[in-house]
Formats: sequence, C-alpha cells, structure tokens
Amino acid sequence: MALRTLIRHLHYMWASFILKVHVILDSVVKTAGPLYILLALSLLSCIIYLYYTAVLPAVHQLNSVEGITHLILSIWLIYNVFFNYYWCIQTDPGSPPLDFDVGAGMSQYESGAPISQMRWCKRCRKPKPPMTHHCHICKRCILKMDHHCPWMHNCIGFYNYRYFLVFLLYLWTGCIYTVYMASIPLFGTASQEQTTDKVNGVLFTFVLSLAVFGSLSCLLGWHIYLVLTSQTTIDFYSNRQRRKEARRSGQVWVNEFDVGKIQNLRNVLDSKGDRLWWLKIWLPLRILPRGDGIHFPSRYGSSDTGAGGNQSSRHISAPNSYSSGAASSSREAVSIERVLADGEDNWRPANMV
Ligand SMILES: [Zn+2]
Ligand SMILES: [Zn+2]
Repeated sequence: MALRTLIRHLHYMWASFILKVHVILDSVVKTAGPLYILLALSLLSCIIYLYYTAVLPAVHQLNSVEGITHLILSIWLIYNVFFNYYWCIQTDPGSPPLDFDVGAGMSQYESGAPISQMRWCKRCRKPKPPMTHHCHICKRCILKMDHHCPWMHNCIGFYNYRYFLVFLLYLWTGCIYTVYMASIPLFGTASQEQTTDKVNGVLFTFVLSLAVFGSLSCLLGWHIYLVLTSQTTIDFYSNRQRRKEARRSGQVWVNEFDVGKIQNLRNVLDSKGDRLWWLKIWLPLRILPRGDGIHFPSRYGSSDTGAGGNQSSRHISAPNSYSSGAASSSREAVSIERVLADGEDNWRPANMV
C-alpha cells in the first residue's frame, strides 16, 4: 500500500516537473522570438551577400545579358522571400470572435451537413470552431492553427498560412537556384579566374544553400501534402488517430473538409475565386484566404452525400446532446466541458462514414 502511494506520489511529481518544463520552454520560445527572426535574417543575408559577391561574378559578367538576367531573377526571388516573410510575421493568424457561439456557427452550416467538430477550449473557456487550436505560447485560440513558428515569432494560422506557404516556396526555389549557380564554378567551367577567398565563398554558399534546401524540401513537401488534403499539422495527428479508431471498429473515417485537391489548394491560395489565382503566386501580392476561418467548405455541404466513394459505408450521426447552441450559457458550457474528455482539442466522431 505504501509502495503504491509512493509510486503515485512520484508520478505526480514527474507530471508536475514536465508541466513546469513545458511552461519554461513556452516562455523561452516566446522571449527568443526576435532572436530567431534575427538569425533567419542573418542567414538569408549571408547567402544573398555571397551570391552577389562570389557566385554570380564567378558564373557571368555582371554587365552581360546573362548577368543582368540572373540579377533580375535573383532580385525577384529575394523580394518575394522577404515580402512573404514580412507579411507572415505581421499578419495576425486570427482568433475566434468574442461572441462566437457554437449554435450560431452551426446554423450557418449548410443544411444536412453533419457537424463533426463541436469543440471546447478549456483555457479560454469558449467554444472552438473546427481546426481552431489553443496556442500555449500566444495564450489564445488560433483559427485553423498549424503550428507556432519561432522563426516567424507568430502562430501560423488561417490568415497568414498563405504567406507562410508562399514564403517556403520562394525560399526553396531560391535555394535550389543558388545551389545550381554555385555548382557551375565548383564542378563546371567558370567565366573568370577565382581567388581562393572567392572559391571558398562559392563553396560555403553551395553547402549552406544545399543544407537549407534539404530541410526546406521536407517542410515544403509536408505542407503541400497538408494543403492538398485540407489538414493542419495539428489536425493531421488527430485525424490519423480518428482514422485508426474508425478502422478498428470496421468503419472508414473521411476528412469532411477535404473537398478535392484542386479545391483544397484554391481555398488556401485563392481568395476571390479568380480564374488566374495560380498566376498570383508569382507576384508579391497581399492576399487573404477564402472564408472567415470559422466556416469551411465541407464535402457534406453538397448534395452528394456519398462523397469519397463511401456510399456503402455506415454514417454515424452527431449526438443530439451537442446539437443546440447551448455553449453560450456558462452552466451548459460547463456541462459540455464535463462531457468532453480531458484535453483541449476534443472532438466527437461524427464524420465516420
Ligand atoms: Zn483557447
Ligand atoms: Zn502561437
């Protein structure tokens, strides 16, 4: 008995210790945010400086047609990198409005659509729209939260995700371009004789750009996958869990916000339904995503209730106890909190078909 009490006590101490470590880490990430930005800017500036002083002069004469073409191309890449980086930092990712009410949110869904994610934030003591998560560093709920990015000193959420994605795309393109340019004097023929300092500069640029390119390839590939499947990084893990649970019970779980790859992409990149939305990626434009971050296009919103080719599968409808806008009253809100399991990102398995 005494041993069991001791184990319980040790377990409690360990949990308290882990909690304290999390709190300290959160405050360190928040405090060190400007330093991360400074580090990112230093890294970018270093590559840019070496490109113009060592790489480009080693490949082309700056007053030649090729040299001027590469100059314009590199300026366009650099401008787009900094433009999207700046606006990703500056744009608020968005939080649920103060008067957000689960009932009000529900009534705006298209009729017949199952409401899959009635969720409650224990920290803010407020209901959360789908894909909204509480950020422990920003200490508030973030609409369509992907992650808290220390390099941006900001959360990546609904309103700044497009800038984040396009920033990654330009940085990745810039890195592969720099790797290619630096490889010409290193492995091919250079237009001019190079001093040892310049050769070292080219080699350093090549290695640095290649390292950034490698890590960015994984990150960009991951985010392209998330965009095409209409998920955030946080939701990917919870969706995977739901998919496993559904499989165990002989069902198929379908992400109701996945409305097709092209449409998912347009929902992130295109705000106005413009036919030339894909062209705007190549220009430094301030574009906000489609929608309000609270209501998302749902595959159940269309008349095709058998979306995803699962017509023969069984659909589990939402429990009635969650189907009214009761969360606006504190008493009922508390009852929702009790009903839902511990953890702030609760969901109910309504979209299993
Ligand atoms: Zn919250
Ligand atoms: Zn945050």
